[in-house]
Amino acid sequence: KVRVRFAPSPTGPLHIGGVRTALFNYLFAKKHGGDFLLRIEDTDQNRFVEGAEEYIVEALNWLNIPFDEGPKTSHFAGGGDYGPYRQSERKELYKQYADKLLESGDAYYAFDTAEELDAHRADHEAKGKTFIYNWHNRLKLKNSLVFSETETQQKIANGEEYVIRFKSPENETLFLKDMIRGGMQVETNILDDKVLFKSDGMPTYHLANIVDDHLMKITHVIRGEEWLPSLALHVLLYRAFGWDAPKFAHLPLILKPTGNGKLSKRDGDKMGFPVFPLQWKTSDGDVFSGYREDGYLPEAVINMLAFLGWNPGTEKEIFSLDQLIQEFDLSRVNKAGAKFDPEKTKWFQNQYFQQLDDAQLAADFSRLLEEKKISTELVLSGVEGPNLTTIVSLLKERASFVSDLWEQGSFFFEAPQNYDDKAAAKAFKPETPELLHKVIDILSETDDFSSVKLSEAVKGWITSENIGFGKVMMPLRLALVGEMKGPDVFDILAILGKEEGISRIEKAIE
Ligand code: GLU
Repeated sequence: KVRVRFAPSPTGPLHIGGVRTALFNYLFAKKHGGDFLLRIEDTDQNRFVEGAEEYIVEALNWLNIPFDEGPKTSHFAGGGDYGPYRQSERKELYKQYADKLLESGDAYYAFDTAEELDAHRADHEAKGKTFIYNWHNRLKLKNSLVFSETETQQKIANGEEYVIRFKSPENETLFLKDMIRGGMQVETNILDDKVLFKSDGMPTYHLANIVDDHLMKITHVIRGEEWLPSLALHVLLYRAFGWDAPKFAHLPLILKPTGNGKLSKRDGDKMGFPVFPLQWKTSDGDVFSGYREDGYLPEAVINMLAFLGWNPGTEKEIFSLDQLIQEFDLSRVNKAGAKFDPEKTKWFQNQYFQQLDDAQLAADFSRLLEEKKISTELVLSGVEGPNLTTIVSLLKERASFVSDLWEQGSFFFEAPQNYDDKAAAKAFKPETPELLHKVIDILSETDDFSSVKLSEAVKGWITSENIGFGKVMMPLRLALVGEMKGPDVFDILAILGKEEGISRIEKAIE
């Protein structure tokens, strides 16, 4: 059975790249009838950030990417047969695996300090060489830093700080396989001996990750390209333990909109779009904007994320989560970096926004108006009269966000205080007052104040008098809206009603 995991470290808010990894894991699992796990990799206490785990879970919840197994949180009761799902709660487990590798000779104690390592590095650099930190090279060093078994035990007994490092094999060519990138060769001699276990009793990412993937029966590791350099070590670790390695797939980097380098968490607010699913406030008071708070629909964000590195191979662009599960295929994921496109994201948002139900949108819009303390009395007084749903249906096609409804339609609730200068210069002519007076007369006489009837009456008069539409319609729109925007003028009039409509026109020609 396919089992995949999303294994974030709670070192900060999940950015778009992290959510994309979660989504691709989820799609792959569901496509193959498998399980999707959430595992929190929180062994690095120095990088732990308060609230980050909660943020991750909330983001996945908002995006409707549920996991089958994971830690107990406010969004998930917690559960699964392979817990606990927080590495800090599995702490006791890892030491025995480090010990196994010590026993088999695949790992060793190292006592060197950061200063000693720096000195070696500097030494090598001075000679124009790179210092590759591995057992074999260490043996060759003058101050070799390699100790006998007795010396080692003595040092530990003396309470000297140590780490346990993996002993990379010498002179081997590894043949690695990636489901997206195909085959790769790595010479083991270029690998550093990575730390597996620290003297504070905590495993490093590498050890904990491999042990947990094995114990949790993970079949496919799908993660970001930044982990590709660790693949050789991970494969070697599986081999050293005598375990079957899962299959690996490394997802392409997400690039800045310019294509120039990796998308960074600062890029978003610098360029005016979010790179985080939810808003994030740092402890220093910095605020990073989020898609949710900016009014995006989770469906639009999902659809956008799916196309970051994947495509269906057809022209089709709009995919629901269920359709993505059907269509998703790792073999259609690109190797090349995926350019992040904020404009495309807005386009997806617009597409999904148009599908929303008017009545439901009206409820959201009503909440926004309440927040803004805008009275709707002016136009929405009668039970039988126009309602917010009608207004929403008129504004929707020009909107992608609930906030756009306000920007496009604030004039329904507040009479214009002034008129757009440029438009006014064009629309208000010497003959305008006389023409608008006539419009007022027509409106006064029209009892059925529906858009159709109003349009018939006014347009009928314009045509019969041969006046020219612009001469009437432009100042009329300006009088009602204040700018040259908005839906059909007669639709607007029908909603404003006779009294308010006439009062706005009168004010314009005062
Ligand atoms: N904890 C790692 C991260 O934060 C997980 C990498 C992996 O999936 O192996 O990205």
